[in-house]
Amino acid sequence: MSFTPHGKHLIAGEWVAGEAKFRSEPAHGAAHEFAVGTVEMVDRACAAAEDAFTAYSATTREERAALLEAIADEIEARADQITQIGTEETGLPEARLQGERGRTTGQLRLFAEHIRQGDYLDRRHDKALPDREPMPRPDLRLMQMPIGPVAVFGASNFPLAFSVAGGDTASALAAGCPVVVKGHSAHPGTSEIVAEAVHAAIARTGTPAGVFSLIQGGRRDVGQALVQHPLIKAVGFTGSLAGGRALFDLCAARDEPIPFFGELGSVNPMFILPQAASARGAEIAKGWAASLTMGAGQFCTNPGIAVIREDQAETLAGAAKDALAEIGAQVMLTDGIAEAYRSGTARVSGGEGVRDILSASCNAREAKPNLFMVSGKDWLGNHALSEEVFGPLGLIVTASGEDEMTRIAQSLEGQLTATLHLDEGDHDLARRLMPVLARKAGRVLANGFPTGVEVADAMVHGGPYPASTNFGATSVGTMAIRRFLRPVSFQNIPEALLPEDLK
Ligand code: NAP
Repeated sequence: MSFTPHGKHLIAGEWVAGEAKFRSEPAHGAAHEFAVGTVEMVDRACAAAEDAFTAYSATTREERAALLEAIADEIEARADQITQIGTEETGLPEARLQGERGRTTGQLRLFAEHIRQGDYLDRRHDKALPDREPMPRPDLRLMQMPIGPVAVFGASNFPLAFSVAGGDTASALAAGCPVVVKGHSAHPGTSEIVAEAVHAAIARTGTPAGVFSLIQGGRRDVGQALVQHPLIKAVGFTGSLAGGRALFDLCAARDEPIPFFGELGSVNPMFILPQAASARGAEIAKGWAASLTMGAGQFCTNPGIAVIREDQAETLAGAAKDALAEIGAQVMLTDGIAEAYRSGTARVSGGEGVRDILSASCNAREAKPNLFMVSGKDWLGNHALSEEVFGPLGLIVTASGEDEMTRIAQSLEGQLTATLHLDEGDHDLARRLMPVLARKAGRVLANGFPTGVEVADAMVHGGPYPASTNFGATSVGTMAIRRFLRPVSFQNIPEALLPEDLK
């Protein structure tokens, strides 16, 4: 059965219509009308979230785990309809949406298991020392507690795994925080059906309805009102540097500043070291081309820059060009993102000393791969060449030697990932680069490609600014829950009054 959205917001268990409408702009299939979010709706959703907080934050870990598992089940019960509306709205292929659904339900279940284990509470106990001289020591017990209602901004490029019931929502709900989602206007129908799944799970588990609301986009003041709402205590965001920075600044300027966990841009540099380049340069180039063009290059972990010694660059460029030339035009997520890809490509190709290896043009909402080459000297002299171009664009930066390769690494801004392609004979140079890259990136990897982020305990998806706005956090993996918790110390509190988890 195909899914036709009704176009309403979900506010604390109620589907709410509105007079103003916006139309979706699907890549294919019919467009639908959606109610435009308003500041008044933001206020209603935040008030309901705060009302629900007391009861929800006091639920047991088992109760919250059951809610997360019920959301996963309800998403699976709508699997085909989610894939249908998701592919229509985003242009992403069915297989990608199916895989992303599995990742989304897997994330929800992973957080269920994670809170059952209880390690995330980080419980500590310093027993009282009443006879200590010169001062007795009080009894101190510490644990992590939920921070309050959380705002989540759905990402355009992961309509399921980083959207309505994605990692931010899953980790906030696991922590014990109600969530108000601002849906991304690129996939409002997908947001609606996933919100239906959350709604059904909330009803089934008897969770307070105010624990979850979805307000559709359509207007910028919705997101702005949400991050400035006094009842919101933290924000999870994935998107552009410009949008993220604007919302981050609003959070910092509040009377009560709140943490803004923004996952923003990254060029994810790869360093192809000499032995690896001579042993398997062409093979690395093929892998790079596949990683660069996956999902039309619309991944925050897309490896946009490859750094290689200049005498080895032509082999890499030739093999990458051949592999990229075989890849046809791919539909992008929105017209705006396709336009930004075109202007980003023009910015790179117009840079001093930049050579075209493969350049392509295509229709309005499509992207074809582009490949360029530039010397390390010209790259170091032009900051614009180190900025993210969201889409399948690769830039080869040639280094005159080890010193210049190191200078390139040192000059990088904060990154989500940095990759080394190396063989055993490259270890001395790798030893030089490793401390530099570990300072720059949230994840350093060897002999692989950064696209494909494992959802696991030891994953970090974050990094120094501008990769993210908070280098101490990750938006993927179980540590993501820490963003929505704060430590509270209980001093000499009678056992009967302590939170259940501390008794
Ligand atoms: P975006 O423009 O930053 O939008 C993300 C969300 O923030 C949307 O809900 C948007 O609302 C809202 N927003 C943006 N600027 C705002 C502002 N000034 N005030 C209030 N709300 C604001 O990102 P996008 O639409 O996903 O994609 C555009 C660009 O983002 C891409 O070209 C790419 O460079 C980058 N991107 C990066 C990543 C990554 O993981 N690093 C992922 C996706 C996209 P509306 O829905 O109303 O626009």
